[in-house]
Amino acid sequence: MTIKVKILPVAEVLCSNCQACCCSSEVMIVSDTGVPSRHIDVDEYGSESMLRLDDGWCSALDRDTLMCTIYEYRPWICREFEMGSYECINERTEKMSYLST
Ligand code: SF4
Ligand code: SF4
Repeated sequence: MTIKVKILPVAEVLCSNCQACCCSSEVMIVSDTGVPSRHIDVDEYGSESMLRLDDGWCSALDRDTLMCTIYEYRPWICREFEMGSYECINERTEKMSYLST
């Protein structure tokens, strides 16, 4: 007996094809990794997060290349947020469905 197997195409998960989705999320700064102060937003309680500009993206994101300009100093959360991880896939699914509406 022959069992037909249908192979579904799986889209490649790359930062370069998702318009830097996760760089428009709120990124709390929970430890000192050397983020330059010009990219830090401090709220009324003293909590620090990455500054986001009017377009919604992190101010440290290069708008042309969609790459992080402070990669060596990026916050801990950005280091933990790995390309292709569960969180990454969720973020892409949520943001890209929003962008396509
Ligand atoms: S880590 Fe994931 S969500 Fe973030 S830019 Fe890369 S592919 Fe997109
Ligand atoms: S610090 Fe870099 S990796 Fe983190 S959100 Fe900003 S641009 Fe993206």
